[in-house]
Amino acid sequence: MKRVLIVHYGEIGLKKANKDYFVKKLQKSIKMRLEQKFRETFSVRYTLGRILVVLSDKFVEAEYVEVLRKIFGVKNYKFTYVGSTEVKKLEKQIWDNMPDFEDRPGTFRVKVKRSMILPYKSAEAEREIGAYLIDSGIDMKVKLKGPEFTSDVELFNNIGYFSYKTYRGQGGLSPNSQSKLVSLISSGIDSPVASYQMMRRGARVIFVHFHGYPYTDKDEMHQSKEIVEMLSEYQFDTKMYLIPFGEIQKTIATNSDVPAKIRTVLYRRLMLRIAESIAKKERAKGLVTGDNFGQVASQTPENMFAIHEASSIPLYQPLISLDKEDVIRIAEKLGTFEISKLPCKDSCSMFMPKHPELKANIYDLRKIEENLPIDDWVASSVESGEIVYF
Ligand code: ATP
Ligand code: MG
Repeated sequence: MKRVLIVHYGEIGLKKANKDYFVKKLQKSIKMRLEQKFRETFSVRYTLGRILVVLSDKFVEAEYVEVLRKIFGVKNYKFTYVGSTEVKKLEKQIWDNMPDFEDRPGTFRVKVKRSMILPYKSAEAEREIGAYLIDSGIDMKVKLKGPEFTSDVELFNNIGYFSYKTYRGQGGLSPNSQSKLVSLISSGIDSPVASYQMMRRGARVIFVHFHGYPYTDKDEMHQSKEIVEMLSEYQFDTKMYLIPFGEIQKTIATNSDVPAKIRTVLYRRLMLRIAESIAKKERAKGLVTGDNFGQVASQTPENMFAIHEASSIPLYQPLISLDKEDVIRIAEKLGTFEISKLPCKDSCSMFMPKHPELKANIYDLRKIEENLPIDDWVASSVESGEIVYF
């Protein structure tokens, strides 16, 4: 039987005048990702609120899942059979193609949705198909709410598309459907998740990583590159800036006019300024960090105030109110946790004070910064940064 992949979108459907734009982006993303993976041309059609892809005879479901599970904007998807709209024919087709269950579910229901005019109601078709499956020997109890197994039918375009499993997608908005943002990414647990969250909202994220090399080894840089490579599978055209930061940190750490405890906040202010300069160069509309309210010394309200003051463009912190466990759960699902948890010396733990300031004062900071070549550092950092593409 002919097979067709049906993709449903979620929040995009709530858009009004802009809906076409988001649907087209999603359609194009699905096409590009499938073509990249299978190296053949795909026809990806849009019809009646669904995206349809005709599948080749010998398609392997798991290989398609691997692609679709990483596309934002997808609410769910199913690998359907192209069946009849006549209930008598359809129910037989459904029975004949029933999958082999390794573990037979105990309960089932038939779910019919239609977007075409038919001489019968959806509920009538559900009952009739359900009765047929029972008579044929499906050996499961009917359960309308929360069944273990659903025999699904969508009736439209004069076809009865039926399937036996609905996969959940990532949700969110289509990849690269919003403007660029610059994300400050460490090799830690939080910032990869923060970047992922903003990509999920459609932003195209450009990454900036500050490394301590040659004062640290290259492990940390490799770790952050590995993380960005993983994240690059969720958007198109990923770009990453690797900015040497060790020299600046060392200069600050060895300056006797700079109190040790204020260093962390100074480093962070500098990072934001450099990232802002990159954002301007890239025409990005804001910055992203993995900051989390109250988690570490640099994240007290006073220090957040002092740090943010250094940036004049919007700063997005999608993890601000999450518990660490919540973030770890997302990082585990995403796969970045495995890399982030590896021990490595990052540029931030280097040249760090033993007792960091918890309530930095903005006037003191400004006074200290007046005697530091901040603008030169920002310009030279951006200039000496290495750019990597994924
Ligand atoms: P993360 O797990 O993301 O490192 P964290 O909880 O360890 O976060 P901090 O180390 O204080 O918190 O960093 C706060 C934020 O500053 C990070 O989420 C990240 O956005 C940014 N940041 C920290 N270090 C770096 C770095 N070396 N390069 C780029 N951004 C960084
Ligand atoms: Mg960190």
